[in-house]
Amino acid sequence: MSQQVHGNYIDGAWTADGDEFQSINPSDTSDVVGRFTGGSKADCEAAIAAARKGFPVWAATPLEQRKAALDFIGNELLERSEEIGRIVAREEGKPLAEGIGEVARSAQFFQYYGAEVLRQMGEIANSVRPGVEVDVMREPLGVIGVITPWNFPIAVAAWKIAPALAFGNSVVLKPAELVSVSAWVLAEIISRSGLPDGAFNLVMGSGSVIGEAMAKSADIDGISFTGSVSIGRRIARNAVDNMTRVQLEMGSKNALVVLNDADMDTAVQCAINGAFFGTGQKCTASSRLIVEAGIHDEFVERLLAATDALVVGNALDPATQIGPVVDERQLQQNLKYIEIGTNEGATLATGGNRLALETDGYYMRPAVFTDTSNSMQVNREEIFGPITSVIKVADYDEALATSNDSEFGLSAGIITTSLKHATHFKRHAESGCVMVNLPTAGTDYHVPFGGRKSSSYGPREQGQYAKEFYTTVKTSYVLAT
Ligand code: NAD
Repeated sequence: MSQQVHGNYIDGAWTADGDEFQSINPSDTSDVVGRFTGGSKADCEAAIAAARKGFPVWAATPLEQRKAALDFIGNELLERSEEIGRIVAREEGKPLAEGIGEVARSAQFFQYYGAEVLRQMGEIANSVRPGVEVDVMREPLGVIGVITPWNFPIAVAAWKIAPALAFGNSVVLKPAELVSVSAWVLAEIISRSGLPDGAFNLVMGSGSVIGEAMAKSADIDGISFTGSVSIGRRIARNAVDNMTRVQLEMGSKNALVVLNDADMDTAVQCAINGAFFGTGQKCTASSRLIVEAGIHDEFVERLLAATDALVVGNALDPATQIGPVVDERQLQQNLKYIEIGTNEGATLATGGNRLALETDGYYMRPAVFTDTSNSMQVNREEIFGPITSVIKVADYDEALATSNDSEFGLSAGIITTSLKHATHFKRHAESGCVMVNLPTAGTDYHVPFGGRKSSSYGPREQGQYAKEFYTTVKTSYVLAT
């Protein structure tokens, strides 16, 4: 795959004009995963124009044909999940099993929204005026710009593209540069699914060129973005000039509360899974472990032992539990946070160092800070790496208040055997997702996903709720006498 230069997909054709860039395997930097054509502003504009032209054609395509296209994409992703999962693991650095799981999950998004194509219903209302009939229908929004991050290279694109297409919109996808092979493979499948020209377009390249051009375009009707808060804010500011609808899913600082009555095995497993799986590079990662005093010392002892036992290695090695960090820049940022935490008085209880392994990659040992307070920088800012902090609290009330004391609010978890506390936490956690005796990361695909505060802006993603973003409502009045 590394010999071919992968082009962009615009108006039903592959184009190869532009500067070349490479995607490198973070587990083995000598491995070039793929070579690409970086799109220009003109390519982005051409893709948007193609999507504008393809939109009415796709929106008018008979429902069963639309469903068949989504089914085709879902089925092929599922059939090729091992092969494509390997590409994801090689390119993003997540362990092979997680890569395969991500592709299978992406297939489910297309299958779910394939079925959704046939479930688009309106409402009929009685009018307040005699002789008048009222109906409420949903129509597609139009041209959707999809801007995705690197941490779930196929799944995030899938959970945006599938509903966009299902509801009759056309799409321009701008993936993160670091994971262009994965995005290209998905686009290649979509290109063979029977969509009319222009209904789906791929433009790879830098955020500051392609993403910026998309956000500033007057020809885009909606932008669905997942990524950092700072870029999300920038997109929203750029989009508002054109009244473009935006849906932003951004960072977080998710808390996992562990109460005195917690089952210890569940607490440790959930903390390890939430904090470190995916190398901590999940928007739902448990980066604050808020632990009640009575269980604190035993929990920390067990947590440190479990952290030290984690196998860090090449994503393709079946023994690996924690793959590399995605790139050198992110690794340096993680190491900087280790320094910041230590300087502000946290105890680095384990890990936090770069590892030299057999292949040259961006490896680091998962780190646990103890003796931290919620006001420390390491507990306020999203780190996005395999680093978690333990915060000791006196009781449940302090645990809840500490969990909510954050600029973010994506996911919050509690480990407890108390129905009373679990129920209270579910109601009072200021987050979009709440987990009881489960890791903060890991969600279903048929129910809404999103957060509060700085974590999200705009309508929810996934499940039935996706239509709030991807459709617009029309109310019709007919004088029927
Ligand atoms: P990022 O914000 O750096 O980039 C995200 C995307 O935006 C990329 O495709 C990038 O090229 C593009 N971009 C960059 N500059 C742009 C600009 N000026 N205009 C338009 N687009 C631009 O994020 P990342 O480093 O790829 O991903 C990590 C972040 O994503 C973390 O903050 C993480 O929490 C977040 N994330 C959130 C969720 C969620 O659902 N809430 C899921 C996964 C990741």
